[in-house]
Amino acid sequence: MTRVGFVGLGTMGHAMAANLLMAGNSLTVWNRTPEKAVDLVCEVAADPVALGKKSDIVFVCVSDTPDVEEVVFGEKGVIHGLEDGALVVDHSTISPVATKRLAARAAESGVAWLDAPVSGGAEGAQNGTLAVMVGGPAEALDRARPYMGAYSKTITHIGEEPGSGQMAKAVNQVLVVLNELAASEALLLAQAAGLDLHSTVAAVEGGAAGSWMLSNRGPQMIARDWRPGFTIDLQLKDLRIVLDAADELGVPLPGVSLTFQLYRALQAQGLGSEGNHALVKALEQLAGIELGGERK
Ligand code: NAP
Repeated sequence: MTRVGFVGLGTMGHAMAANLLMAGNSLTVWNRTPEKAVDLVCEVAADPVALGKKSDIVFVCVSDTPDVEEVVFGEKGVIHGLEDGALVVDHSTISPVATKRLAARAAESGVAWLDAPVSGGAEGAQNGTLAVMVGGPAEALDRARPYMGAYSKTITHIGEEPGSGQMAKAVNQVLVVLNELAASEALLLAQAAGLDLHSTVAAVEGGAAGSWMLSNRGPQMIARDWRPGFTIDLQLKDLRIVLDAADELGVPLPGVSLTFQLYRALQAQGLGSEGNHALVKALEQLAGIELGGERK
C-alpha cells in the first residue's frame, strides 16, 4: 500500500489533507506550526525527514520557492528520509525556473517530481474542486492522480517538462488579477452611478462579462469583507513569478504590471494580510468613493 505524506497545513494544505483523510486514505502530516495538525485524525511527524521515512508519495503545499527548498532539501528536508523511487508532488505556487532545478536535484536522489500548482481558492480546497496543472512525467502523475482526486475536480497534464505546471499557473494568475481589476473597476462605476450593486452583479454575471472573481469575490467586496481566501502578500509573490517569467521570455504584460503596483501600494499601507479582492481599495483611493459608501 502506498504511504502518503503531506507537508504544509496552511489554508490550502489543511483542507487538502482533510479531504485526503475523508476519502479514506491514511496519512502522515507535518506542519512548521504543529497546532494546525491537531484536528486531523492522522499521524503527525516530528519533522520532514521523519515524514519522508514514512512516505512513498509526499504532497507539499507551502508558500514560496525558498520554503519548498527548505522542507524538501533543507537540513531536515523530506528528501533525506525518502527511498529511491519515491515521488514529491509540489502543490505550492513557485518559480517555474527554480522548479526545473528542484526536480533535477530530486532526481539525483532517485525521487520523481511533479510541479502541480492549484487554482480554485480556499473554497476549492475545502469543497474538493481544485484545478491542478501538472508538469512532469505522466507515469508519476498516474501514481499521484488517485490521491489528488480527493481535492480536485480537474487535473490537467500540461507537459513532461518540469516547470510547465508552474508556467500554466503563471498564466492562470494573469487571468486572476485582471479579472479582479475588472471586477473592481466595474463595481466602482456601478457605485458612482448609484446602481444597486447586488442587482448589477446578478444582471451581468451570467453573460459574457461573468467571471469566478466577480461571482465569488464581488459580494465580499460589496460587503467590505476583506477576509482572505488568498492574501495580497501571496498575490504579490505570484505576480513577481509572472513578471519574472514574462521578462525572461520578452513578453510585455502592461495590465499585470499595473496591478502589481496597485497591490504593492496596499501592501505598503499594511494591508498585505487582506484578501486579494481588497484590490478595489486602491481604486477607491483614486476615485474618492467607496463601495457601499458616499462620495468623499
Ligand atoms: P498559508 O495559509 O499562508 O500557508 C502556508 C503554509 O506554508 C503553512 O503551512 C506554513 O507553515 C507553511 N510554510 C511557509 N513557509 C515555510 C517554511 N519555510 N518552512 C515550513 N513551512 C512553511 O498559504 P496557502 O494559502 O495555504 O498557500 C499555500 C500555497 O498554495 C502558496 O504557494 C499559494 O500561492 C498557493 N495557493 C493558494 C491559494 C489560496 O487561495 N489560498 C490558491 C491557489 C494556490 P506555518 O503554518 O507554520 O506558517
